[in-house]
Amino acid sequence: MSAALPQRQGVNVSDRARGELVDNAVAAGVMTRCAMKVALLDLKAQFATIRDQVVQAILPILDSQQSVNGPAIKQLEELVADYSGCRAAVGLSSGTDALLVSLMALDIGAGDEVICPPFTFFGTAGSIWRTGAKPVFVDIDSATFNIDPAKIADAITDKTKAIMPVHLYGQMAEMDPIMAVAAEHRLAVIEDAAQSIGAAYKGRKAGSIGAAGCLSFYPTKNLGGVGDGGMVVTNDTDLADKIRALRNHGETSRYHYKYVGGNFRLDTIQAAVLVVKLTYLDGWSAKRRANAARYDALLADCSQIVTPKIAEGNESIFNQYVIRTPKRDGLQAFLADHEIGTGIYYPLCLHQQECFKGLGYNTGDFPVSEKAAAEVLALPIYPELADEQIDFVADKIKTFLQ
Ligand SMILES: *Cc1c(COP(=O)(O)O)cnc(C)c1O
Repeated sequence: MSAALPQRQGVNVSDRARGELVDNAVAAGVMTRCAMKVALLDLKAQFATIRDQVVQAILPILDSQQSVNGPAIKQLEELVADYSGCRAAVGLSSGTDALLVSLMALDIGAGDEVICPPFTFFGTAGSIWRTGAKPVFVDIDSATFNIDPAKIADAITDKTKAIMPVHLYGQMAEMDPIMAVAAEHRLAVIEDAAQSIGAAYKGRKAGSIGAAGCLSFYPTKNLGGVGDGGMVVTNDTDLADKIRALRNHGETSRYHYKYVGGNFRLDTIQAAVLVVKLTYLDGWSAKRRANAARYDALLADCSQIVTPKIAEGNESIFNQYVIRTPKRDGLQAFLADHEIGTGIYYPLCLHQQECFKGLGYNTGDFPVSEKAAAEVLALPIYPELADEQIDFVADKIKTFLQ
């Protein structure tokens, strides 16, 4: 035992060291990663390009020990508000908490209904549920995977208080008809923009159209921290003030609480890292779009694969590049055999989740979403991917289909 352990540790350490050398070399542009292995996402490759800046941003926080409510929070809020074309932004503990606190700030709770798609990350409907309100699902559009605006009106009742469209995979939902139906029925719109910071719809940025836009800084998002984080962007400064109070237990002046909120604060270290990373965001998202265009061209002649469709007037940030095929499971296994990482977002719709059984939905209720859940496959799209890796992935997809 005692003899084997150091040896095993030695192997691990040298493997990791070798990996870092490759990452650094790729980042420095002196080599491209060997085309034999393509990860779905390689956060270390990105970190290698900004390591010194990130470390320099964190050190003053450690030295000052101003780790809660430090100056980087306000700095990030101003930068992201500006970036998103909004008057205000409030840093929060996660994207999920941004959704939850937005609903709380709009006084949505027990007895209310909120409309959202069933084909999304769990946090969308989970946040609605946690306020005591009822998530009411509306099926998606098969081309964009976003909520189908034409199906919203049928789901509205006298209990409906809000619509929560999701800008899935980096592409915004069709906001004009959504805002129109919301205005007609006096409903608030809360944009789940967790996957779409910087995406645009007819020139307007994600999060800037509804009453509130909710961003996530989870590490896999286009703007990711070194841990959890989120933000609400809004043009309603009163709503921003209320969310600012709610993130700090509802405190409006020292030890005086107008609301019952919680601890939903953004960490100062996350804010400092995100201030650094925000300067790179447009470049990274542009690289993702270029990678998407390369896949589009390479896969154009594959009749059994549907490549992502970006609706007119939209600019996607390609948080994910999602193809669809009825042969999805076989394709995923084949790609895994060739050391190509892929992901399924999401394999089971929310109306089919065990925790939502009480809502009374059945399989078959949302056929477009259910079909998507069976057919979608996310390919590696991260900014640091080499062209040769994209070519390799496309080549293996074609091999499988032949
Ligand atoms: C990531 C994500 C969230 C939740 O964000 P967290 O920061 O992980 O809490 C919510 N909705 C969607 C669509 C997401 O992709």
